[in-house]
Amino acid sequence: MSQWKEVLDEAARYATGYLDDLPERRVGSGATLAELRETLGGKLPEQGENPREVIAALARHADPGIVASSSGRFFGFVIGGATPAALAADWLTSAWDQNAGLYVIGPAASVVEETAGRWLADLLGLPAGVSAGFVTGAQMANFTGLAVALHEVLGRAGWDVAERGLWGAPPVRVLAGQGRHGTIDRALRFLGAGTGAIVEIEMDDQGRMLPSALRAALADGPAIVCAQLGNVNSGALDPVGEICDLAHERGAWVHVDGAFGLWAAASPRLRGLVEGVAKADSWATDAHKWLNVPYDSGLIFCAHPGAHRATMGARAGYLVHGADGERDALDYGPEHSRRARGFAVYAALRALGRDGVADLVDRCCALATRFAERLAASGKVEILGDVVLNQVLVRVPGEDASTRELIDRVQRDGTCWMSGTTWQGQAAMRISVSNWSTTEEDVDRSVAAIVSLIPG
Ligand SMILES: *Cc1c(COP(=O)(O)O)cnc(C)c1O
Repeated sequence: MSQWKEVLDEAARYATGYLDDLPERRVGSGATLAELRETLGGKLPEQGENPREVIAALARHADPGIVASSSGRFFGFVIGGATPAALAADWLTSAWDQNAGLYVIGPAASVVEETAGRWLADLLGLPAGVSAGFVTGAQMANFTGLAVALHEVLGRAGWDVAERGLWGAPPVRVLAGQGRHGTIDRALRFLGAGTGAIVEIEMDDQGRMLPSALRAALADGPAIVCAQLGNVNSGALDPVGEICDLAHERGAWVHVDGAFGLWAAASPRLRGLVEGVAKADSWATDAHKWLNVPYDSGLIFCAHPGAHRATMGARAGYLVHGADGERDALDYGPEHSRRARGFAVYAALRALGRDGVADLVDRCCALATRFAERLAASGKVEILGDVVLNQVLVRVPGEDASTRELIDRVQRDGTCWMSGTTWQGQAAMRISVSNWSTTEEDVDRSVAAIVSLIPG
């Protein structure tokens, strides 16, 4: 037997067993921190071990501490699973072990990313010819989009930020909704712009930026407007077309954080929610959420490819760059060497097709509505706000403690898994339906478990 076959078969045997058991597996982790440290901790071995035995022991010891977040009954945060094609392509990515930074050392990886980037721009309603970068997640997509935005708005003000940095630069205002994701603030910290650059724009009771508040806050001078598609709590989408019109009147750059909400564009039924999205300047989204590609997989698109490359690109004497329009991925993201994460995105898109992606998005939204209707029908909980996408907010009437207790009980019960939040000053349980494999039966089983666990 080849040395590869023995160890890879061991991994495949465990992996297929794990995945086959996923629909019935307890969703939460079944191990305590102490237990995991006991089995997985200890000293670095002095002598090497047999690879197959290492893999077998790793699988056996890690298994109790694995959260079945790719299960059809995991509804915490906004987390997708992995479709079979995407997962298998991810295995190939490791086997090929390409460094996807440069065309010359990964031509197939480069062309696959070029193709998947073009398909995605089309699917998500973005203008033809946008540049695309494959990053780790929406955090780094927001970081990249905001870096390009800073480069461009300061460039237009006569300041070369690439050379001169932000010390002494004209101030740049970052207008972002009250309901923005924390990764916007974090990106501004990484970029040295600081969270003090943020001008908070009021949101409505659903979590959407108020265009009237944006209009009042816009002023002349370098500015970036951050619109959001998909509030992590309510799923609400900012009126992105209107935001673009207002921002562009004042020369501001519009960056869209569409980590999951941008996928509404892939559904003919929901497309109206993102009307005008093509007018923005940069877009961040995730493939590891709604497209159900394994971690880590985020995307940044930019309507100004030259600015994108000027901000992110790397040049050094020893780097061999492609001629003939060959695409060097390191020009579009913050990383230098990196995994060829485009293979999994490409495989996911081919296996689903345009109709399959639309169906995935529509199905998750329909299941979220089913959750809300069935939970409300119990008469024991209330649904906060409108269910516009795949997110539902649930509250036990009365004290916050009852809702927090319910979340705790649900997590310990193991039928399904939800996380909590605070929405407009009140505790709420968040439900996010983002998994390709979730069925109506999964929802009904979860509703029954939740209703049986409501305190009081
Ligand atoms: C999930 C999310 C992010 C962060 O994405 P990561 O993939 O975790 O980096 C940013 N913005 C929004 C709106 C999100 O939902």
